[in-house]
Amino acid sequence: MRRKLAAGNWKMNGTSASLAEVEALNTAHPTAGVDILICPPATLLSRLSGVAGPAIATGGQDCHAAAAGAHTGDISADMLLDAGASHVILGHSERRADHGETDGTVHVKTVAALNAGLVPVVCVGETEVERDDGKTLQVIGTQLAGSLPDFAGIDRLVVAYEPVWAIGTGRVPTLGQIAEVHDFIRATLAERFGAAAEGMRLLYGGSVKPSNAAEIFAVSNVDGALVGGASLKASDFSGIIAALEQAA
Ligand code: PEP
Repeated sequence: MRRKLAAGNWKMNGTSASLAEVEALNTAHPTAGVDILICPPATLLSRLSGVAGPAIATGGQDCHAAAAGAHTGDISADMLLDAGASHVILGHSERRADHGETDGTVHVKTVAALNAGLVPVVCVGETEVERDDGKTLQVIGTQLAGSLPDFAGIDRLVVAYEPVWAIGTGRVPTLGQIAEVHDFIRATLAERFGAAAEGMRLLYGGSVKPSNAAEIFAVSNVDGALVGGASLKASDFSGIIAALEQAA
């Protein structure tokens, strides 16, 4: 059985005052029937890791492929670990768009994260034009092939399906569209990684809210969610966690 995962991506949001949201989550979820993860901006990671209760893990939003060196502004996987992180989001569509990250970039970062002992949350997803052109599965297949390494222990890796057109827009694919992509991802992983694919969790991401979470979590091969906007407020994220606990 794969343990469900509710992951929050705070993106470039949050200052010291936001630590209160984590304290509220601690109170609401002193223990949880699902895994809970918060990925704050790097400036908050260490403090947030100190404040987070036992049910809440923390992660970075990116890491560099190298272990250390002359890379101004970057952060290594070991540094994330040192700051208390257990996970790292890699290949988010905003990094692919804003920083020109390719599948090759994501691949080497994923190797670095796995080598450091972090759980990578690797994001894939089609643009609206690609969906309209009927290329969704082809795009996802290419991203998976290029972004994921062959690595012993790959079963701890998490894949997040995030249609680019659904991120931060309030638009969500139909449940049938989510099922089609998640079933395709599971089959693609099984073809490549064999039995290890059964342990790999698949998250849906894109405008998940407390009001639509339960129906999304009922879709086959959805093992949780990667949540942006609705993870910023403890009350919203808590509703999503509760819906995931119901589905577990
Ligand atoms: C995200 O950016 O990972 C995301 C899913 O954002 P939102 O939930 O705001 O659509």
